[in-house]
Amino acid sequence: VDTPDLVLISRRLVTDGGERPGAVVVAGGRIVAVEDTTDPTQLPDAATVTDVGDLAVLPGFVDAHVHVNEPGRTHWEGFATATRAAAAAGITTIVDMPLNSLPPTVDADALEQKRDAAAPQTSVDVAFWGGVVPGSETHLADLHDAGVMGFKAFTCDSGVPEYGCFVPDRLRDLAAQVAAVDATLIVHAEDPATVDAATAAVVAEDRDPRAYATWLDGRPAEAELRAIAALVDAARDTGARVHVLHLAAAGGADLVAAARADGVAITVETCPHYLTLAAEDAPDGAVAWKCAPPVRDRGNQDRLWAALADGTIDAIVSDHSPAPADLKAAVTGSFVEAWGGIASLQLGPSLVWTEARRRGHSLADLTRWMAAGPARVAGLTRKGRLEVGADADLVVFDPDLAWTVDASTLYHRHPMSPYDGRQLTGRAVTTYLHGEVVASLPPGGDVPDVGAPPAGRLLTRGDA
Ligand SMILES: [Zn+2]
Repeated sequence: VDTPDLVLISRRLVTDGGERPGAVVVAGGRIVAVEDTTDPTQLPDAATVTDVGDLAVLPGFVDAHVHVNEPGRTHWEGFATATRAAAAAGITTIVDMPLNSLPPTVDADALEQKRDAAAPQTSVDVAFWGGVVPGSETHLADLHDAGVMGFKAFTCDSGVPEYGCFVPDRLRDLAAQVAAVDATLIVHAEDPATVDAATAAVVAEDRDPRAYATWLDGRPAEAELRAIAALVDAARDTGARVHVLHLAAAGGADLVAAARADGVAITVETCPHYLTLAAEDAPDGAVAWKCAPPVRDRGNQDRLWAALADGTIDAIVSDHSPAPADLKAAVTGSFVEAWGGIASLQLGPSLVWTEARRRGHSLADLTRWMAAGPARVAGLTRKGRLEVGADADLVVFDPDLAWTVDASTLYHRHPMSPYDGRQLTGRAVTTYLHGEVVASLPPGGDVPDVGAPPAGRLLTRGDA
């Protein structure tokens, strides 16, 4: 047996749904042993032995919903900036979304362009979702074979003209085609007719474009529920595996739970903004809050947390989607004009932990929701788990470290953030990718160092 590269010792290893003292032994970029002792004399010699004391060691977080936008809209967000933000947060794998980049990732050639753009500049591991738009269905098999983790479709306007949608009536056909190549269909689920009617009503009432309620009332919970119900029917009728993206309306979790109890292969994710922001608190003109579906009220937020606690919601992912300030209508503060999308890649684990802890949850819960869960949703079998055979992607996390968000110091492109100035508890201190340190918070410092050159790898379905 080769000498291990690293032995990482902690009083709080987060494994198998619990915490215990122990040590992680790493060789060749993989976890080769998880020991119960913290006594270095009883552990193998290694090139590096690090005892982090009472700091927790978790599997690296996995963010299965990131809009990198490169190539084509790299001025919105690119691989270098996004993956540095991820590494700083303890996120060791991201899964890129197929739209907003040009071309969108709807065929194997577009995936190749994505991979070429990403390869030299990623600081964490990157996998890719494929996309499907009307007319691109013929590319499903090729793109699946090229290694995407599944296929994303919209049921409503995606916001960009090159990425068309499948209205709910067309989901059954689409699900059958995706099931035929044995892939997962992941869906932005809002019913367009419901959105159109609600938006028309808001316009007819001549509501204040700077008021958050003007945006919220145009995207009612009913729109999500109708589209999710159609997706459930499509999955039930075709046997397709389906996934509900960025659930905002808590009632959707009830639909998912009922479908699952009925044998439907369905998973669901939500996002930090739905769990830590509430519509009641949105200031006028706060366009940094705009996303679709929208941040809803506090009662809804409590129900999302309950659906996480009972296991209905599988994962928490960022839906990170920055845009330049002019597109965000930063000057006018108009929710009507502003591009939708919240940038939070570097903040997700700390945002969620701050609120999860307040609600009595554990680091094991955080790991389930932000590492194991998203890895499972994306089909990444060696990620998100602190166990033998998994990639040695690890985060040393200080669950008690209090800090204040300064959006201007975040690594992602465009500093606009609804969390600027927010006080958080808990933070990644050191991030390991394949057993090597890729980011670390300087002692007493506030801005993580991210290593160079970029050490991330590109992941292919079936090989990660
Ligand atoms: Zn998204």
